[in-house]
Amino acid sequence: MLDRESLSVFSEVASKLDKGFAKLPAFQDESPEMARLAEVLEATAERLQDNYPYFHPLYAGQMLKPPHPVARLAYALAMWINPNNHALDGGRATSAMEKEAVAEIAGMFGWKKFLGHLCGGGTMANLEALWVAGRLHPGKKILASDQAHYTHGRISGVLQLPFETVPCDARGRMDVNALAKRLDRGDVGTVVATMGTTATGSVDPLPEILALREKHGFRIHADAAYGGYFVLTENLGGDAKRAFARIGDADSMVIDPHKHGLQPYGCGCVLFQDPEVGRLYKHDSPYTYFSSAELHLGEISLECSRPGAAAAALWATQRLLPLKKGSEFARGLERGRKAALALFEKLRTDARFVAAFPPELDIVVFAPRACSVSEASFLSRKIFEAAAKRDLHLAVAELPALFWQGNLGATKRDRETITCLRSVLMKPEHLDWVERIWDLLSVSADEVLGARGQSAKSGPANSI
Ligand SMILES: *Cc1c(COP(=O)(O)O)cnc(C)c1O
Repeated sequence: MLDRESLSVFSEVASKLDKGFAKLPAFQDESPEMARLAEVLEATAERLQDNYPYFHPLYAGQMLKPPHPVARLAYALAMWINPNNHALDGGRATSAMEKEAVAEIAGMFGWKKFLGHLCGGGTMANLEALWVAGRLHPGKKILASDQAHYTHGRISGVLQLPFETVPCDARGRMDVNALAKRLDRGDVGTVVATMGTTATGSVDPLPEILALREKHGFRIHADAAYGGYFVLTENLGGDAKRAFARIGDADSMVIDPHKHGLQPYGCGCVLFQDPEVGRLYKHDSPYTYFSSAELHLGEISLECSRPGAAAAALWATQRLLPLKKGSEFARGLERGRKAALALFEKLRTDARFVAAFPPELDIVVFAPRACSVSEASFLSRKIFEAAAKRDLHLAVAELPALFWQGNLGATKRDRETITCLRSVLMKPEHLDWVERIWDLLSVSADEVLGARGQSAKSGPANSI
């Protein structure tokens, strides 16, 4: 199951790296006792078995995607050096690799002149973007949709910036009319446009938000932590396509290479369209930056120590899989989206289920039909468990019943939210596995719905 073939390549490239330091005088390092090391690693492997199989196509639950082997190995290779991209003294090669890799990411959005760097993840990247937003519009409100990532509210709290949510439409996208009304009341400094919500992959209507910026002059921060790479795909629906076509017009942006960019965790990226915001980071550390007149990434980052290994992994991955439309990388994203559309179609035409709305990216949310929202919620959990017993791993989510609007029929709306099933089909392999996933979901649903004492395939058509 797990790739081990690439380990032989690794041994060779580790020797190659070693040669770069051959002229140094030999020294005796504290070499570990091999038997003891192996023993501890055995125990580690055993502990790690207690995980869902995130790497396997039958893991179709949360946003989890295995890093590309080249990312894993480049990261490990850099570990023999353990560079720190805080400053050039700590990571000369990997700082250069970070600058190149980040420029390639910015290039996806058409940005040639920009400021940006890698950070620990989307949360840190958003923190930095909102910190800059707050410095430029002190005391003014940050707005984000009520489906935006929950950390925006919390980050605003950390930054002591006032934060408000804007309601969403029935497809989980920021309601532009509600936004326009809120803007008329004034005092808004920044609007966060989520380019692919974490729960449902819904894409906020960026063109309309940009039109409102013309009138009101707020900043736009695009949270594309999840969805950013979809800018390279060619099979988005009309609304999402229009939104992604304008993403380069945002003032700042966040994208997570550790979500769709095939990287190990610990790799987010923040980008600012105007490099001038770099002045806000100014500090007077007496010991960091005396080795050269060149830009140290630590000068434009809130975090200090950062793994150079993350930059090496990203650089290597993008060298193997360039970020281009029509590329192997883009095709991989398109396949996940195709898989999501295929699963949605099966759900939509099956009387046992109700899907919420067609996926805008590669995330499908659905629930079993039932007499009431609370019964559907109960059954969702049961199906989640029944599927897991068959090695099909889905996720459960708590979402507004509004998302099922139009499909609710006579279903008793005894709750505002519904516990539903959620499947993130983010691996290219998912496309080949949709039938298998559907079969396992189908038998799991039959087991649960059959036990409820109803004929499984003929749920009442007028209720969920
Ligand atoms: C995942 C996600 C985040 C948070 O990113 P982390 O890398 O988990 O810190 C923020 N916003 C969106 C839209 C996300 O999907």
